[in-house]
Amino acid sequence: MKVKEKGNYKLPNWTLDVMCTGKGGWRQKHKPCYGTLTLEDGDIIKRGYDDDFDYGCICPECGCFTVIPRKDIPIEVQEYAPRIAGKGSDDYMRLTEEEKKLSEKL
Ligand SMILES: [Zn+2]
Repeated sequence: MKVKEKGNYKLPNWTLDVMCTGKGGWRQKHKPCYGTLTLEDGDIIKRGYDDDFDYGCICPECGCFTVIPRKDIPIEVQEYAPRIAGKGSDDYMRLTEEEKKLSEKL
């Protein structure tokens, strides 16, 4: 196959300010710092399977995961968000190498 004309798809221009609370997440080793984060596309990660995902972000300061309500995230950002999973779980085995690296931040 030849690409006749390259596309230039970009995720929507989207930002959201959230507080790092660590709330709604699963058990984690980090303590939240309660800082305010401005999220852009690419900052959202998801955990779960099929349509039952938890969406959220990992704080660059404290490493805490905070869940973000799905309704606050554009569909495209949800769709392309990388998945993370607990090491050793069945879900973890299905992740890409990049996603496995992300999962280690938890
Ligand atoms: Zn934090």
